[in-house]
Amino acid sequence: MPGEFSLIDAIARRASARADVVLGIGDDAAILAVPAGRQLAVAMDTLNAGVHFPEDTAPADIGWKALAVNLSDLAAMGAQPAWCTLSLSLPDGDTAWIDGFLDGFLALATQHDVALVGGDTTRGPLSVCVTAHGLVEPGRALRRDGARVGDDVWVTGTPGDAAGALAQWREGSERDAALRARLERPAPRVEAGLALAGLAHAAIDVSDGLLADLGHVCAASGVGFEIELEALPVSPMLAAAFDPGQRRVLQCTGGDDYELCFTAARERRDDIAAIAEAVGVAMTRIGRVVPGDAAVALERDGRRWKPPRQGFDHFAS
Ligand code: ADP
Ligand code: MG
Repeated sequence: MPGEFSLIDAIARRASARADVVLGIGDDAAILAVPAGRQLAVAMDTLNAGVHFPEDTAPADIGWKALAVNLSDLAAMGAQPAWCTLSLSLPDGDTAWIDGFLDGFLALATQHDVALVGGDTTRGPLSVCVTAHGLVEPGRALRRDGARVGDDVWVTGTPGDAAGALAQWREGSERDAALRARLERPAPRVEAGLALAGLAHAAIDVSDGLLADLGHVCAASGVGFEIELEALPVSPMLAAAFDPGQRRVLQCTGGDDYELCFTAARERRDDIAAIAEAVGVAMTRIGRVVPGDAAVALERDGRRWKPPRQGFDHFAS
């Protein structure tokens, strides 16, 4: 079995570079040149085997997703990703596994020009923790606490797809490849977040389910949300694989899509349509911000729809 340091060497050899990395992997800490006039946005997310992904997931998919969920958090802040660190807990020092993992991780890092600047490598149950660092202009970050009554509510992409793929996996039914890609290779909406910075009033990335995540924005902003079930965008794959009743549960409470949900003034509808066009990501108006303290979904006739569950909570009993 290779030792800790040859594993770290294997990672360091492949890590991508950036001009603003003064000192990368190899010392006790990395040194990064933060540009004058920018603020640092820092996000951390962990993926545990058996909790966040099935034990037998391909290492490259785990690598991609471990970075993607963190870049999604930066996207939801309207931050430009720059650097990341990687803490790996591995049951054995399997270099082939690490190489596969890095294939996925570094493919996404390269796509977004993110440098891997350090980390930690330990032995233990399979777990991957990433910290992503991004840059924002002061005052322009997309926060959860800025939603205003009267705002439109928007969502990128087609929420529900990842949960659809997970449902097919759990049921052991035939798995749609495109849905599966949405679960295993989520595309963090970095360009969309950057374009919305300074325009949207509030934003969150949909990781735990649309209604649950909007609930966090309710709490932070002191407002309520009304979502129109009829307005929710649906992918052709999800529409083909699930009936309308199942589908709305996936769309409203399924997590893991890493789409952005944001609010903006009604006057900005044309600007948002132009941004969607420019970044090549669909943005759909799904509801509005109202007085209150809860996120609710409405049927066509205006009745409240009661979801069987709100979303994902690790510590819910
Ligand atoms: P220390 O004992 O000083 O914390 P380590 O031996 O843990 O240092 O790590 C040596 C160097 O390798 C450090 O620069 C650290 O950031 C880097 N490193 C360790 N594990 C990883 C990893 N999984 N990914 C990226 N860099 C890593
Ligand atoms: Mg260490």
